[in-house]
Amino acid sequence: MKPVIDSHIHLDLYDRNEREQILRELPLYQVDSLLAVSFHLSSCLQTLSYKHPSIKHALGYHPEQALPETKELEAITELIRNNRSTIVAIGEVGLPYYTDHGDMKNYAALLEHFIKLAKELQKPVILHAIYEGADIACDLLEKHEVTDAHFHWFKGSEQTLDRMKKKGYRISVTPDCVYEQEIQSIIEHYPIELLMVETDGPWQFEGKYEGQLTHPKMIHDSIATIAQIKHLPIDRVYEIMYKNTKHFYKLDAPEKGNR
Ligand SMILES: [Zn+2]
Repeated sequence: MKPVIDSHIHLDLYDRNEREQILRELPLYQVDSLLAVSFHLSSCLQTLSYKHPSIKHALGYHPEQALPETKELEAITELIRNNRSTIVAIGEVGLPYYTDHGDMKNYAALLEHFIKLAKELQKPVILHAIYEGADIACDLLEKHEVTDAHFHWFKGSEQTLDRMKKKGYRISVTPDCVYEQEIQSIIEHYPIELLMVETDGPWQFEGKYEGQLTHPKMIHDSIATIAQIKHLPIDRVYEIMYKNTKHFYKLDAPEKGNR
C-alpha cells in the first residue's frame, strides 16, 4: 500500500459520523488528500467549512438538478472569486444525463459560465459530462481554449475519448472499474498519464462493495485493477496516479500562494 489521493468526493453528502470516520481513517489507508467537490450554494459553504489539512476544496454547481436561480449562481460565483487563492478547482459542473431537465441549451450556458470563470481564475474545471454531454463540454472547452479539464467518472464513445486524449484532458475512474467492463476498456484505451482515481462517495457501488459505505480506501483496489489492465507493476501505478493528481491540482503549491 502506497499513498493515494481521492480526486473526487462529495464529503458534505455523508452524514457526520461517516465523514468523521473517513477523516479519522485517512492515515490508516494512506489517503493523502481528498478533493471535496460541491453540489450547490449550501454545499459550497459546507465544503469550505472543512478545515482538515487533507481536504482540498472545489466549488461549483452540479448539473443533475434544476438550474440555479440567478441569485444562487451569483452567490456561488462570488464565493469562487473570494476563495480563489485557497480552492483548487471549479466543480462539480457539467451537463445533466441521468435526469431530464428539459432544455440542454440553458445547462450548456451555465457550464460555459463556469468554464469562462475557470479560465479567468486559472483553475482546473471538474466535469460531470458523459456520452453526448461530453462532446458539448469538449466544444465549450475548445471554444475557450481551456485544457485543465478533469472529466470525472467518464463514460462515452471511443471517438470522444480520442478527442479528449488529444487535448490532454484528465479522466478519473471510480471503484466500479473493478467490475465494470465499460470502465476497464476506458482504462485500456486512455493514456495512464492522464488518469486519476476517485470514489465519487458517498455514491454506493455494486459487486464486492454492495451495501458498503463508499470509502477512499477502495481506491487501492482501483489501482490494482489499473496495474493489471496496463500491465504495469502496482507500485508504478501508485506513483503515477499520485503524481498525476498532485500535479494537475497543484497540491504541492503553498496554501496561500497566488495560484
Ligand atoms: Zn460527483
